[in-house]
Amino acid sequence: MTELTQNLINRESENFMHTYGRFPIVLDHGEGCVLYDIDGKAYLDLNSGIGVNCLGHNDPDLVAALADQAANLLQASNLYYTKPLVEAGEKLVKLSGMKKVFFANSGAEANEGVIKVARKYSMDKYGNPERTKILTLNNSFHGRTIATLEATGQEKFHKAFFPYTSGFGYVEANDLEAIDKAMDDTVCAVMMELVQGESGVRPLDHDYVKAVEALCKERDILLIIDEIQTGVGRTGTFFAYQQYDIEPDLVSAAKGLGGGVPTGAFLAGEKACDVLKPGDHGTTFGGNALAMAAANVVLDKVGNPEFLEAVKAKGDRLMNEIRAIESDKIKDVRGLGLMIGIEVGADAVSDDLAKLREKGILALSAGGGTIRLLPPLILCDEQIDQAVKALKEVLA
Ligand SMILES: *Cc1c(COP(=O)(O)O)cnc(C)c1O
Repeated sequence: MTELTQNLINRESENFMHTYGRFPIVLDHGEGCVLYDIDGKAYLDLNSGIGVNCLGHNDPDLVAALADQAANLLQASNLYYTKPLVEAGEKLVKLSGMKKVFFANSGAEANEGVIKVARKYSMDKYGNPERTKILTLNNSFHGRTIATLEATGQEKFHKAFFPYTSGFGYVEANDLEAIDKAMDDTVCAVMMELVQGESGVRPLDHDYVKAVEALCKERDILLIIDEIQTGVGRTGTFFAYQQYDIEPDLVSAAKGLGGGVPTGAFLAGEKACDVLKPGDHGTTFGGNALAMAAANVVLDKVGNPEFLEAVKAKGDRLMNEIRAIESDKIKDVRGLGLMIGIEVGADAVSDDLAKLREKGILALSAGGGTIRLLPPLILCDEQIDQAVKALKEVLA
């Protein structure tokens, strides 16, 4: 480690709350799927800022759009219209097949929005404050605000920040009987990730998701899909629900949406698109002109069917080649598109990630002892080869 790197790490340690276990790397700049640290060492990026930099780094169109917009107007507030805002919203509605959109700033904030819509839908229609419970799945992850922590179906997130909000219930994923039983007349919505990311890259069964959709329709319970990690092309379709053949009532998105510029959104279908009225919800920064300039580039590029086909093909290839690695260490390989989990056991993950870093590969961890890969969606064939070769060396 150079003196400069050590110096920056020490200064962070002195001045910052120790909420993150950062890797001992000071990143400086990136090009495509390659990141460079401040000492000039190159890394293949299989992390993309936790599923954010979908177009990789230094995408010329994204950079040009941001520079242009920065020179024009950064922030207008939602008291006015801007062209990038209107265009991005229209594109997102079209790509999703949903009816209406609201822009927020982050994933957790988008999820707060869908929680509000679901509860107000129920309150408007049934006038019953008892019919406000939202069911989520064990091993889910929905964010870090007080309400979204409570929505997260993992006990370890419910231990320190009392009082939490009430009104959430948890059921085991892929257990239809359990959710059927839990969907009683106190429930207004079911919220789920179609591939649970943070807890270990766990795709839900198709039949289960279809059956939950049917139960929701039957009981007028809203189906909320959290696409914050799975959305914006990550799984090979623009949203993952487009592969599950369902029509959600509410969808949240964030991570990849701004290609690296913070932005989030939620979308509503027919049932819930007019629930929020003037004054019911708002945000200062949401739909900010700079973020929308970025989102427009992302939506144009990632929303292209050929781009999405390529993501699917690359994801299939990467997954198949990882599955073909002969290794006693690999317990399971799962995922969808370019969202891949390699289960190696909780004892092995941080060691394996360190070995990968030594080989110039940046990957992520996830729950259940899983190595998580969320590369930029522009990953090329040679980079897939490079990734597989390094994984083979570390895991075989
Ligand atoms: C990352 C994530 C969130 C939270 O998003 P933030 O932008 O960190 O608030 C919520 N849900 C899922 C599925 C996520 O992956």
